[in-house]
Amino acid sequence: MSAKRILIVEDEQAIRDMVMFSLAGAGFEVEAAADVRQAQSCIAEHLPDLVLLDWMLPGMSGIDFARRLKREDLTRELPIIMLTARAEEEDKVQGLESGSDDYVTKPFSPRELIARIRAVLRRGASAAEDEMLCANGLTLDVASHRVSAGESLLDLGPTEYRLLEFFMAHPERVYSRGQLLDRVWGSNVYVEERTVDVHIRRLRKVLEPHGYDALIQTVRGAGYRFSIRV
Ligand code: CA
Repeated sequence: MSAKRILIVEDEQAIRDMVMFSLAGAGFEVEAAADVRQAQSCIAEHLPDLVLLDWMLPGMSGIDFARRLKREDLTRELPIIMLTARAEEEDKVQGLESGSDDYVTKPFSPRELIARIRAVLRRGASAAEDEMLCANGLTLDVASHRVSAGESLLDLGPTEYRLLEFFMAHPERVYSRGQLLDRVWGSNVYVEERTVDVHIRRLRKVLEPHGYDALIQTVRGAGYRFSIRV
């Protein structure tokens, strides 16, 4: 498994350097940003596995940035740990309501921070690994990568599998081709949008003999939707 990529967004250089040094020592790949603008360009270039986000930043606050990340499709599931110098309970509540997954109060030890990061990453991983996604008798087992329609096992290519997994995990929502490319292929991969149509076609072809192709709906002018409502 490749190293997890952590983005630290912190305006105080001393803390940034300390965190970068200790996380790199613990085997993480680390990127640093001093403000929200830098953080956004880091994220656009390569989606990290987790963001460490300082509460008090110049310009836009960490809290507002966390809310924005949780609103956007690409970053909705990106785990966030807030770094806060304030210890008040109310602030912590506000931090968690903004969508962050955990918080660490300054001053913190590198060891404590690394333990929190690992816990949050593990939480995300086990939720995904245990998952069975089901829709009207179509079942996708995330751990074994098996897809079955009733009793029959379906033979899907890797991209078709990832597409179907994404659709089944996010049903009843329309995704544009661009969004599907970001979420299924990854934002740093350059492929043309009509590639999405090719793989949708292949996926439907595998589902068709079992009558499940209708679950993948074309929404004219918008994109595709996985829906059990016909
Ligand atoms: Ca700060």
